Amino acid sequence: MSLFAKFDAAESTRNLLNSLPVNPTAVVIERVVSASEAIVGGRPTIMAGTNNYLGLTFDPDAIRAGQAALADAGTGTTGSRMANGTYQGHLDLETELADFFEVPHAMVFSTGYAANLGTLAALLGPGDAVLLDSEAHASLFDGCRMSGADIYRFPHNDAQGLAKRLRRLGERARHALIVVEGLYSIRGDCAPLKEFADVKAEYGGYLFIDEAHSLGLYGDGGRGLAEAAGVLSQTDFIVGTFSKSLGSIGGFCVSRHAELELFQYASRPYIFTASPCPSVIATTRAALAQLRARPELRIQVWRNAERLYSALSGLQLNLGPHVSPVIGVSFDDRDVALLCWQGLLDRGVYTNLILPPAAPEGGSLIRCSVTAAHSDAQIDTIVQAFTEVCREHGGSNTV
Ligand code: PMP
Repeated sequence: MSLFAKFDAAESTRNLLNSLPVNPTAVVIERVVSASEAIVGGRPTIMAGTNNYLGLTFDPDAIRAGQAALADAGTGTTGSRMANGTYQGHLDLETELADFFEVPHAMVFSTGYAANLGTLAALLGPGDAVLLDSEAHASLFDGCRMSGADIYRFPHNDAQGLAKRLRRLGERARHALIVVEGLYSIRGDCAPLKEFADVKAEYGGYLFIDEAHSLGLYGDGGRGLAEAAGVLSQTDFIVGTFSKSLGSIGGFCVSRHAELELFQYASRPYIFTASPCPSVIATTRAALAQLRARPELRIQVWRNAERLYSALSGLQLNLGPHVSPVIGVSFDDRDVALLCWQGLLDRGVYTNLILPPAAPEGGSLIRCSVTAAHSDAQIDTIVQAFTEVCREHGGSNTV
C-alpha cells in the first residue's frame, strides 16, 4: 500500500469541509480587536469560542511583562530545559505555581499537551495499570499510550465504573494511576472528584487530575475543581495549561510527591524540546498574579456563564448538565449543527463546531466559551443569534 494511502480519509474530510460556505476548521482570525472580539471574514465578530476564560490576553501587566522580557532576554531560549533553556523566570514560575497550589513541587512544560505526555509517560511504564476516563483529552490518552502501561478505560464520570475496574485489578489497584479531568471541555460537565477521591481511598492508587479548563474558574482561590471539591490533599498530581485562563502557552504539573523533581531526568517531552520563550514565561507569571489578586474576574466569568446558559436553556436547546463557562449545545443532526454554526458566524458570532467523532456519543455540538471579557451586550447578541439560527434551521434537538 502506498505511504500516502492513509490520507484518503483525511482528503475526503477536507473536500467535504471545503465544499461548505466556510470551512469550520479553517477560520482565519484576520485581526484581534480585544479579548472578546476579532475581525473574521472582514466583519467584527464576537469570539464565543476561545479558552480565554479570564479575558487576560490583553491584560496590561502581562503585556508589559512580556515586552520587557523580549527586550531583556530575547525572542527564545533556543534550547532544552536540560541544556541552556532554564532561565531564572522558568524557576520563578515553578516556585509560584508550587506556592499557589500549596505543594512543594512544580514543573513547567512547553505546552499543556507536553505536560500530559511528559508526566504520564514518565510516571507510567510497561506493567503499570492506568484507569482513564473514557472522555479524557487526547493528550491524556496519548501520554498513557506512550508509556506502554496497561490502559483501562472507565465510563465517563462514573465513580462506580472506576471502582468496578479497580476491584478487578486486585492487588494491582494499590499502584494504579487514576486519570481524570476537572471541567470537561466539550459539554462543560464536571468530574465527581469527591467520589473519585473516595474510590481511591477505598481501593488505593494515585489520583491525577487535568485541570486545564478548571484553573481560574473553580475553588475559592481559583485553583480548580479539586479545590472546589475539597480534594486537593487527596490528589497526587495536578496538570494544567497556560493556554486557557492564563492567556499564553505552556503547561505544568504540581505535586506533593518529591519524585516529580526526578521527572526532568525521565520525561522525554520535557527533555527533548525547547523551553518556553522568556516572554511567554513573563506573561504567564503576570497572568497568574492577576488570577490570584483579582477574584472579581472569576465572579464576572460566572455571571456571564449564568446569563448565557439560562438564556440558551430558555430556547430549549440541549445543553450540558450544569452551568459552566463551557456551554456545549448538542445536535442530533450534523447538517443542522453545521447550518446553525455557519448562521452564527454570519451574524458575527464565532463558536466552535465539534463534529463526530470528536463529540461524545456520535452527536454534533456547537460549543460556546464564555469569558470575563464579554459584556452583557455581547452575551445578548450571542443569544439573539442563536434565537435566529434555531428559528431558521429547526434548532438543536430539544431537551
Ligand atoms: N488538557 C486538556 C483537557 C485540554 O483541553 C487541552 C487543550 N485543549 C490540553 C490538555 C492541551 O493544552 P495545550 O493546548 O495548552 O497544549
